[in-house]
Amino acid sequence: MRDVRACQACLGALPHGVRPVVQAHPDARVLLVGQAPGRKVHASGVPFDDASGERLRGWLGMTRDVFYDPHQVAILPMGFCYPGTGHSGDLPPRPECAPLWRERLLAFLPDIRLTVVIGQHAQRHHLPEPGASFTEVVTGWAGYLPGAMPIPHPSPRNNAWLKRHPWFERDAVPALQAAVALALGHDEGVSRRASGR
Ligand code: SF4
Repeated sequence: MRDVRACQACLGALPHGVRPVVQAHPDARVLLVGQAPGRKVHASGVPFDDASGERLRGWLGMTRDVFYDPHQVAILPMGFCYPGTGHSGDLPPRPECAPLWRERLLAFLPDIRLTVVIGQHAQRHHLPEPGASFTEVVTGWAGYLPGAMPIPHPSPRNNAWLKRHPWFERDAVPALQAAVALALGHDEGVSRRASGR
């Protein structure tokens, strides 16, 4: 993480400068893979500290305390720094970032039980399905559990997609919450409480 924070590999291509926004600890059991920080997150340095994050925490069934606990949750977007904004929203993650850092960091996360693959950039890297569209892969979410779950980006920009695919929040989100609880071991606490132990 010290090396990541000192990275300047694409300094010249980042209009707002270098600021990797990542969270990780070898104890983490859930890995969240998003796109890249947006303008607000670049300013705060806190991942998903925006409207997208609020919706994502709702989908995951996570409190902020759990979400921001690196001992439970690792957050490694496909690009660690804010790439700037183009004509139709934020630019894609810098292509230098994943080849440089992804495998090196994942090697330090031996206990990941669930990888939540958020949006198309993460999907292309973590769940490559040649010939399948983004929506086709998300539609097949059940086939990736319990180790991975493809989901759309929670950005308000995707409200139209969510409206066209109501099954996602109706069927996939409850399954995602159960998978998160299982990966974090929270379901054990629930069953112990339920059994009075
Ligand atoms: S986006 Fe990734 S590769 Fe580029 S400077 Fe930031 S941390 Fe380094």
